[in-house]
Amino acid sequence: MDEKSLSAVNKQFNQRKKNRDVLLAARREEVYRMSPRIREIDDAIFSGGLSMLSAVWDGNESPEQVAGGYAAKTEKYAAEKRKLLKEAGFAPDYLEVPYTCPHCKDTGMHGDKLCGCYLSLMSEVLFEQSGMGKLLKKQKFETFDLGFYDDTPYEGRPLSPKKNMQLNLKICMDFVRDFEEKADNLFLYGNPGLGKTFLSSAIANALLERGVSVLYQTAGQITDILSDARFGRGESETATFFKDQLVKADLLIIDDLGTEFINAMTDADMFYVVNSRILSEKSTIISTNLSLEDIKRVYSERMLSRIMGHYQTLCFYGKDIRSMR
Ligand SMILES: [Zn+2]
Repeated sequence: MDEKSLSAVNKQFNQRKKNRDVLLAARREEVYRMSPRIREIDDAIFSGGLSMLSAVWDGNESPEQVAGGYAAKTEKYAAEKRKLLKEAGFAPDYLEVPYTCPHCKDTGMHGDKLCGCYLSLMSEVLFEQSGMGKLLKKQKFETFDLGFYDDTPYEGRPLSPKKNMQLNLKICMDFVRDFEEKADNLFLYGNPGLGKTFLSSAIANALLERGVSVLYQTAGQITDILSDARFGRGESETATFFKDQLVKADLLIIDDLGTEFINAMTDADMFYVVNSRILSEKSTIISTNLSLEDIKRVYSERMLSRIMGHYQTLCFYGKDIRSMR
């Protein structure tokens, strides 16, 4: 987590805005050449906006009066513009270049919150650094294959690995469906190679498409962020930024809990993240190879009690399916 990654994200983000501006400007010139009247209309709309501002500023008219008149005029101009475009042979929406992200209109912000597209770009940059980016992007519900799981009894459990995965899959899909309605939390645990990371990325991908802000980090990255912020290491603005996002993002996915270096300080840090998110009713997904007994042994008792009290627990068992792909 360094200054370089953040500036790589900002660079891509600015490029996106620039591409749209350039395309829009080129299309405008093209249209103006064909239909000079449209330029006059655009100029009139622009100067109308300016005089509206100055009328309010001078106190001659109330903002409502001015805005009402302006809206009516603009609507008349817009109708004329559509007609002219059509006459010149352009599509009616030719001058409405779509935003890469319609949710935030490429500003990267929703009010005072970062938009999901910004965090998604950030995750991509981080994943590319960890070499996981492309893999995670491909992991979607549509590509999840239950065919890899065995349908015979496993170690005396009532559900076969396949039936169990059907259940896990349903819980994850319901989590996505109801995401905006309730702040649910999921605890995915069990042996490696059974699809925990796959399902958490599928959730992340589905929600990112809806503009939800998702932050996907390994437990190790999270404790690094917090200790960087604490000791003022690296660029302090970047450290504070990421620390904030750990609590503010709509969904935080903590991958591989238990693989980080654990001491009293990192234990307290991880508890801080998990607990703050519960208090502020933000959803969290934890995936781990540890069992619940391990959690109690490795972390403090209070961590286990938060998980037991506030998370749906999804157990993963069966034979490692990675060898079968
Ligand atoms: Zn956005």
